Amino acid sequence: MLATPLLIASSILMSVAYAYLTVYVPIAGYVSLLFVLGMGFGVVLSLRYAAKISRCRSPALLKMLGVAMGLLTLYVSWACFEYVMLSRYDDSFDASLFDVLQSPQAVWEIMLQINETGWYSIRNSTPTGWLLWVFWGMEALAIVGAGLVGGAIALDDEVYCERCARWLQDSKVDVRLGLPEDGTFETLVQRGIDGVEQLPSVNPSGAPHLRALLKECTGCADSVAMKLVLVTHETDKDGQVQEKTTDVIGMSNLDATEHQRVKALADRPMLDASAA
Ligand SMILES: [Zn+2]
Repeated sequence: MLATPLLIASSILMSVAYAYLTVYVPIAGYVSLLFVLGMGFGVVLSLRYAAKISRCRSPALLKMLGVAMGLLTLYVSWACFEYVMLSRYDDSFDASLFDVLQSPQAVWEIMLQINETGWYSIRNSTPTGWLLWVFWGMEALAIVGAGLVGGAIALDDEVYCERCARWLQDSKVDVRLGLPEDGTFETLVQRGIDGVEQLPSVNPSGAPHLRALLKECTGCADSVAMKLVLVTHETDKDGQVQEKTTDVIGMSNLDATEHQRVKALADRPMLDASAA
């Protein structure tokens, strides 16, 4: 299976980058926390990419791969960190990265030594002992947790056409629907296309509206899926208006008739969302 070598390669690359950044960027503390978060984010992205490229469609298998990748990344990042740190500060150290990686016992013993002395300072104090174990424990949870979450969400919004053996692609059809006057649309859209059709088509605008996102198979006309999101707008602290989307109905398959009916929504005359 293609996903496994991809995930291993990604673990090693991220761990090497993490180790050099952690040892050579001279500000410890909060910045190291960012490196850990960055690596967690990398784990999630890698899982999503690997699932897509290897066409893995088993949620259970992806969760297992996710946890395995989290644990592997945790171990490899420790080995890399120790290697980079000892290479920099210990003149008597002459092992290769490969030597360190092959010896979990050495990784563990070096970890115990670092824990005794500590190796970075925050506000003039150097965490050691149990306090450092707590920090390390949180980092470990973040990495392994990222694996579990990454495996669990790797297939979010992805739909596969078994007949054509390919993932569905985003459609160019753009359907925006105005909200009813009282703003409540939940019961209506729960009725499926019948309910959705009762909302007016609108131009995209700054007013809150619903958007139907379609995915289509590029090999056949029959595999189509749709999700419905609520589009709202928020002004961030720099005064920029950001579009924010919230899932209303998750990605689900449409039959041929439903597909035609959704496409027809895009061809109706459009109102301005604020007037709808
Ligand atoms: Zn197809």
